[in-house]
Amino acid sequence: MKIIVLIKQVPETSNVKMDQATGTMIREGVESIINPLDLYAIEIGIQLKEKHGGTLTAVTMGPPKSEKALREAVAMGCDDGIMLSDKAFAGSDTWATSYVLAEAIKQKIPGYDLILCGERATDGDTGQVGPGVATFLDLPVATYVSKIYDIQEKQAKVNRLVEGGYEVLAVPFPALLTVVKEISFPRLPTLRGKRKARTMQVPSLGTAEIALDKAKLGLKGSPTRVVKIFTPKVTRECRKYVIKDNEDIEKAADALIEYLAEKQVI
Ligand SMILES: Cc1cc2nc3c(=O)[nH]c(=O)nc-3n(C[C@H](O)[C@H](O)[C@H](O)COP(=O)(O)OP(=O)(O)OC[C@H]3O[C@@H](n4cnc5c(N)ncnc54)[C@H](O)[C@@H]3O)c2cc1C
Repeated sequence: MKIIVLIKQVPETSNVKMDQATGTMIREGVESIINPLDLYAIEIGIQLKEKHGGTLTAVTMGPPKSEKALREAVAMGCDDGIMLSDKAFAGSDTWATSYVLAEAIKQKIPGYDLILCGERATDGDTGQVGPGVATFLDLPVATYVSKIYDIQEKQAKVNRLVEGGYEVLAVPFPALLTVVKEISFPRLPTLRGKRKARTMQVPSLGTAEIALDKAKLGLKGSPTRVVKIFTPKVTRECRKYVIKDNEDIEKAADALIEYLAEKQVI
């Protein structure tokens, strides 16, 4: 099987800060890690490769420092890593990010069976990039996958988490799957993997290497805009009733019903 895993480098969650003026995330000077939910996609990719043979390539789009995420993925067990980095990509929204990832895969890593993604990134948190890439590549997509099994040459069965249970889908290859935590337990990097990761070459591809429509890149090419960022105000306004006897209970119950009716809850 030829498998691609898409990984994103994110700031450690507690450090997420936003630039109020531009509406974008401030990433400079912040400790970065592989999106924790992508570790599950890497792990299941390694397990599939161990069981069925083939290759596992990690791909990330980000600033030059995201190379570190690719080395970490190789230390865990990916065969190689490809970085997509170019000033022209800066400010891309999920649509522009998906476009670049899809074009890079189409032009540079053809003949794949499976593309694996995390369920969502812990910073942007939209869960849109996986389905976005699948749409650009015209691939079947299954989101929230918790199990991959019955793998044959041209298809696999997957369990997809839904409210109150899971759906069973037969997915024809090539396909894109976004996976949830339940699918695997990420392994630690091995010593051999770390050695390989330290010395490997990480190709960095940009607009010079991938044929891209420049009008679809970066902030200018992004159809969405962050118009305003604010912390929602949580008010604790309430009506308080002190209950000393049965009569108070009745009064409090009547008041509660009246309040819920007033708010059109009942
Ligand atoms: C108007 C606008 C401007 C923006 N400007 C910037 C900016 O200047 N700088 C900036 O860093 N971000 C910027 N962003 C955020 C950026 O678009 C998102 O971080 C990115 O598209 C991924 O979206 P997400 O974090 O919601 O990922 P999700 O869709 O939640 O991620 C789901 C999965 O997709 C894969 N994935 C996601 N992103 C990548 C990636 N980059 N490479 C490989 N795989 C990936 C991973 O497997 C991940 O688990 C901007 C967003 C908007 C809307």
